[in-house]
Formats: sequence, structure tokens, C-alpha cells
Amino acid sequence: MQKILNFIDGEFVAGQGGEFADHFPTTGEVIAEVSAAGKADVDAAVGAARAALKGPWGKMSVQERVALLRKLADGINARFDEFLAAEIRDTGKPRSIASHIDIPRGAANFNVFADQILTSGTETFEMATPDGGGALNYALRTPRGVIGVVCPWNLPLLLMTWKVAPALACGNTVVVKPSEETPATATLLGEVMNAVGIPRGVYNVVHGFGPGAAGEFLTSHPGVDGITFTGETRTGEAIMKAAANGVRPVSLELGGKNAGIIFDDADLDKTLEGIGRACFANTGQVCLGTERLYVQRGIYDRICEGLAAKAAGYVMGDPFEDATTMGTVISAEHRDKVLGYYDKARAGGATILAGGGAAEVPGYADGYWVQPTVWTGLAEDHAVVTDEIFGPCTHICAFDTEEEGIALANNSPYGLATSIWTTNLGTAHRAAAQIEVGITWVNSWFLRDLRTPFGGSKSSGIGREGGVHSLEFYSELRNVCIKL
Ligand code: NAD
Repeated sequence: MQKILNFIDGEFVAGQGGEFADHFPTTGEVIAEVSAAGKADVDAAVGAARAALKGPWGKMSVQERVALLRKLADGINARFDEFLAAEIRDTGKPRSIASHIDIPRGAANFNVFADQILTSGTETFEMATPDGGGALNYALRTPRGVIGVVCPWNLPLLLMTWKVAPALACGNTVVVKPSEETPATATLLGEVMNAVGIPRGVYNVVHGFGPGAAGEFLTSHPGVDGITFTGETRTGEAIMKAAANGVRPVSLELGGKNAGIIFDDADLDKTLEGIGRACFANTGQVCLGTERLYVQRGIYDRICEGLAAKAAGYVMGDPFEDATTMGTVISAEHRDKVLGYYDKARAGGATILAGGGAAEVPGYADGYWVQPTVWTGLAEDHAVVTDEIFGPCTHICAFDTEEEGIALANNSPYGLATSIWTTNLGTAHRAAAQIEVGITWVNSWFLRDLRTPFGGSKSSGIGREGGVHSLEFYSELRNVCIKL
């Protein structure tokens, strides 16, 4: 049986927190035993990260760090197939997704933030003084220190390097706590760190669960100078409380209940293609995915019919096969949660246009399969319409006026992302300005320029990452004022 170890101070070590099983969601089989970090291991990881700030890493120029970041990207790509297999086995997601998104983007993040740190200057201000000599202010970009990085399971490598790359670009050191569901690729990255010459202690990985375990040990550790987290809103609240001790900054990328808004004049085929992906890609386990769809009355029937056909068109099976277009959900527990909402929809009188239950996939009876599902007919305050389900499902509701569509979309405590589908530029601009979310797409979904601000409004998060916004979180600006 494969053992997955913690990575502390450049070495793979067994933790004192016992072991837990890592499952292949497609079959339910145990593929590895993961060694959980105890409190002492998290102490050691934070200590190593702190020591590394004072070692060779802390003395490197930006150019030297950038050269190493580029080697990390190359190093992942050189072992692309290993990363790909590890990610597929941890998540059950199809090769078609992991080979196009997870692993290439996971590697590319290091190049993106290498470019970013090289081209991002800081502010200078000249000021007048009463004696006429003047003064010059400039800001120095300094690392925050040790960053705690707590990650979810839905895009494990990609979302982890999205944080680790800018943190390292800014000169910080990190302690990563991957999701207990997906420990493999963060661990494999430790090998790449050593191979390309990242000094020991700069990148550490501690495994385990959240409350009362590695996650909480890390986020409550006084030696951590900042915490970046992606995951559920409720966990974000707990982490924010932990971060209050010691007044540590947090970046929180949290949950959503994202709405799509389709206007009568939308291009039907392009909309169905885009919104189909938004609802079902990665088995609906994308924070930006659409679980509420508001459709203007004139196009409503065609969207309902078209989306139901999209749902029915997915091919489930071996994720390593190119023909497979939909995998399982992440775990038995998550399958039960998603199916619980499917039951609630049925009990609430929903009209089921597609799916509606567990899926049976020949040869994979023990996998965590659920059907891509489309409902109509539920009240807007029904739990299926208000709660983040994080499964391949959406509820469609009709609207008449632009105002009404926007109001329905905004009727949520969450505010992560939306997509607007229309061929009228005026409608697009008006709606985009009024939707209370951090990320709006018009006639597209998940089209990402990594320099743009990324994050949520309302309960979907605090702060923005991406481009220079990441640098703002992972560095501290110190102003120097020189009297001339
Ligand atoms: P989760 O909150 O259950 O877990 C995320 C991580 O937090 C895991 O590593 C977990 O072990 C850890 N954790 C849990 N409780 C903790 C605690 N008390 N202290 C410290 N760490 C703790 O989330 P998940 O189920 O892994 O991921 C799915 C969620 O992530 C969804 O809500 C989804 O919307 C969200 N998400 C958001 C974004 C975004 O960019 N906004 C991106 C991806 C996923």
C-alpha cells in the first residue's frame, strides 16, 4: 500500500496524528495510507518555514526566486503523467479535465506569478515640505513571513499552487494543508521542490483533517503570519476566528450558489454549451459552477429542453478513458449529501427534467456516482435553491423583466460568480454592474485571465487573489519617507 507522508523541512516524514485512508472515488478502493500530522509535526513545519525565511531563501533576489519558480513549472510538466495519474486517482475526475485544466494550470501558476512579481513595481510619491526641500516616499515590498495554506479537494494542485506560487514569488515560506480527500499532488510537489533546489523549509506539507487536527493546528499556530484558505464558508468563519488571535490577515475564497441569467436574445447554442459546462463540469464541483439558472420567458422552454439534453449526454466511466466526460463526486459522504438534496427536491415537488438520483455505472458499483440533474418548479426559498450543493445539478426558474432576473440572481447570501447570456451589449453591461458578485462572465464561463481580481462578495469570501492582487496579500508594503 502506498504511504503518503508529510513534507517538513525538505524531508518526507511520518506524522504523529495516526493514519487515514485515501480513496479512489471511482471504485471506492483505498489507494494509500496517509500519515496525519500531529500538533508537534505542525510545530516542526512552521518552525522550518520560519527558519527558512532567515536562510538562503530569505537572501535571494527576486530574479533568483523567479528562476526557481520557472523551474517548478518545468518540474511539474516534466512529471506531468505522474501528477495527472495522482490527481485522477484522488478525485476520480476524467483525464479530459485533469489533463487540460488541473495539471497544466497547476504548473502554469508558477510562471504566471514569476511574470507578475517581475513586472509589479511599488508606489512612489514626491511631497512638498515647508522648507522647500521636499521628501520622497517609496514602498518596499517585503514578504509577510510564514503563510498557512489550507486547500479544498475540487481542484487540488491548481488551487494550491494558485496560492503557493505568489506566496513564494513574494519571498514567503509556506505550510500547506491539503484536503484530506486529495493529499497526493501536494506531496508529489515536495519532490519537485527538492529536485529544482528550493531550499529546505520553504515548502512544507502537513496532512490531516480540519477541526482538532492539522488544519486547526496550522491556522491557530502563532508562528503563522497569514492564512490563505479556499473552501466552505463555514470553515472560512472558523479560520477567520482562529486568525483573529494575533491579528493575522486572511484571504478567504469561499462557497457560492452561483446564478446564470439567460436573456431572450441569447445565442441558444453557445449558451447551452457554456451553461452546460457551468452546471456539470467536474461533476458540478467547481466553486464557480451554476446551481441556479434564471431564464427569460421567451427562451425558457428551449433552455430547459437543451440543458436536459446536455445532462443526458455525459458519459460516466473509467476516468482514465478519453471517452469519459463525467466522473464521480469526491467521496461517499459528499455523494450522500448531494443525493440528500436530490431527495429534498423530489419531496418539495420539483419537476425533474434530467437525472434526479444516483447513477449506476457498469463495472463501478462502489463508485460515488450521481446523475447530472436539472429541476424546475421549486420555490426560491427551498433549500435546493438556496444552499450550495456542490454537485452536478441546477434549478431553472423563469423571469420576465431584466430587473426581475437581476433581483432573483442577487437573492442569495453568496456572491461569488455569475454568467450573463445575451447578445445585447446594453443588457450585459447593465446587468453586470448590478450583480453582487466578484466575478461576472458575459457569454462565457470559467474564462480566466490570471491577472484579473478573483474572489467573492458577501459570504463568498474576503479579499482578491490573482495578478497584482495576490502580491498585495502575500507581501507587506513598507513605506520609506526620505526628507530631501
Ligand atoms: P472545506 O471547507 O470542508 O475544507 C477545506 C479545507 O479546510 C480542507 O483542507 C479541510 O481539512 C480544512 N478545514 C476544515 N475545517 C477546518 C478548520 N476548522 N480549521 C482549519 N482547517 C479546516 O471545503 P471542501 O469541502 O474541501 O471544498 C469545497 C468548498 O470549497 C465549497 O464550498 C466550494 O465552493 C469551495 N471552493 C471555493 C473556491 C473559491 O475560489 N471561492 C474554490 C474552490 C472551492
